[in-house]
This record gives sequence, structure tokens and C-alpha cells, in this order.
Amino acid sequence: MFSLRSFKRTAKRFYLHSRREALILVYHRVTELDVDPWKLAVAPRHFAEHLEVLRRHYRVSELRRIADGLAYGRLPRQSVVITFDDGYEDNLHCVKPLLEKHDVPATFFIATGLMKNEREAWWDELEKMLLHPGVLPQVLRLSLKGEVREWNLGEGALYTEEEHEHHRSWDAWREPPPHARHALYLELYRLLQPLSAAEQRRALDELHKQIGSMPECRRTHKFIVSPEVAALADCELIEIGAHTETHPLLVALDDAAQRAEISSSKRLLEELSGRRVRSFAYPYGAYAEETISAVKSTGFDCACSTGSGLVRKNTNPYMLPRLFVFDWDGEEFDRQLFDMFYV
Ligand SMILES: [Zn+2]
Repeated sequence: MFSLRSFKRTAKRFYLHSRREALILVYHRVTELDVDPWKLAVAPRHFAEHLEVLRRHYRVSELRRIADGLAYGRLPRQSVVITFDDGYEDNLHCVKPLLEKHDVPATFFIATGLMKNEREAWWDELEKMLLHPGVLPQVLRLSLKGEVREWNLGEGALYTEEEHEHHRSWDAWREPPPHARHALYLELYRLLQPLSAAEQRRALDELHKQIGSMPECRRTHKFIVSPEVAALADCELIEIGAHTETHPLLVALDDAAQRAEISSSKRLLEELSGRRVRSFAYPYGAYAEETISAVKSTGFDCACSTGSGLVRKNTNPYMLPRLFVFDWDGEEFDRQLFDMFYV
């Protein structure tokens, strides 16, 4: 039905449509998950709706056009860029066909070490250990940096099916932990995040030993494997970007270790894809000055963070803001994008 509100929205869209601004979206996964504390998954039907909204109201651009636009002082007119971080397997099997169906381009930032699929990503392994129904030991211990930490789960050692049903959609971004299990998950997440991949693995192994569990990789939590990079890169709509090797919090590493993480992922992805890898995304969106200079000197044209905002002509190409996309339906997605561009 026609309304004054929709008329105003259309008029505003028309008026501002020619501005030279870009919005970069960050997705991680297109799938449905039973437990997803960081809200990384967007349902396939919702992602299809997002693509329809983008086709209807926006120009979808390649990230390289934004980087070129910043370099030459002329951004494309109001455009949206799609990016995916980490390189989960659903990017190949679910996202790629939808991009092809809607003829929409996207950039996939791949953390090359995760492609080995020896273990799940540490944050997924921690979720599997703590946020599913069952009984854990009442006391859990962990030695971190020479210090022994201890947690008493109390009654939270038991996490029932009913409790799980009640809390499984917990949003770690926006809701306080609803149960001792979630509080422990969050605390361990924060303790493990700045560690090296080897230290994270050691910590998880220590927990597995106490819990009596094994670090098996769930079918639903796999990453694409090396030969599949070529299958992605062969698609004209897809650009491959680098996301380090082990997905570390770069700011917690020394300069040499940061450079090694950044350059090794670029080198391997170029070898596998047969293309120059021009763009980079900082794991967890975190970077320092030396991270930016490492990314620049490694030969990247741009780098994405997770700070929110639009790309404008003065935006630093190595500090590109992005909008985190949640599992919104098409209508909510449209509203979120409208607010970014027009409010
Ligand atoms: Zn990431």
C-alpha cells in the first residue's frame, strides 16, 4: 500500500543515489546453526533476500573498484560491497551458487591455516565443548602463561536439554551470559583470543583432557580446502582476499610474527588461485600502526576492519569500515542499509 513514509524513502533514495560512497558488508557463514554465540550464520533464505534487496535498490560493486576509486580519487556512485571472512565451507557450497544466481560479486577473505581442517576454529571448538547439553567436571583448570586458573562451575556443571533449548540462541554480542556455561565460554574466549594458535591448541587440549572429549571436526564447521580456492577463484564474480594464516589477534603479536602471518597467507592464496591477492581483512577487525605498514609493504591495495561506517573519498584504504550483517530478513536488511546511507 502507498504511504507517505514509503514515498519519503523513495524520494530520499533517489536524491542521494548519486553520492560517491560505499558500504562494505561483512558476512561469515550462510547456513543454519544450532548454537551460534557470535551470530556468524545468516540463513540461506535470508541471504537470498539480501541479494534481492541489493539488486533492487543498490549497485553491488567489487572491492577492487573501491580500492581503485580511493587511489584515483573517484569512488563509484553509491555502492555496496559483499565480503565474507574466514573461508567456511558453506562459502563454496551455498554462497557461490547464490551469487551466481543473482549475478552479484563478492570477496572471500580466507585464513589459510584453517583450510587444513585438522581442528575446528578455536572459537567453534570452545563452543562445542561448553554450550551443549551434558555434564562437565565441576572444576576446570587451565595453565595460561605460567599461571594456573581454576573455575568452579557449581550447578552449571550440568546443562540440561531444557536449559539448552532456552539459551541456545544466546547472542554473545548483546546479551549477558544466561548460565554458568556461557559465562565460562565468554571468559575463556577472552583469555584464548590473544594467544598464538599453538597456545590455543594447548589450552583446548588441556580442557578436552579434563572433560573427556575429543577435538573432532564437525561436518558443519569445516573450512574450504586448498584445491577449492581455485574453484572459487575461477568464478568471475569472486575475488580472493587474505585473512592471515592462523587467524591471530595481530596486535598481540610482535612485528615479525605479524608480517609472517600476513605474507604467508597472501603467498599461498596467490599460488592456489593463480591471481594476485589484492585485499586483506584483519582478524577480529583488530590492527595497530605496524599492522597497517606490514599490510602495505606486503603489497595489498586495501584492508578491511570491522569499524562501522561508509567508505568516502578520504577513507584510509587500509582502514576500510564494514557493516556486520546479522541474520536479518530482507526487510530488516533493507532498513539497516537505508539507515547507513540515508540517516
Ligand atoms: Zn575472521
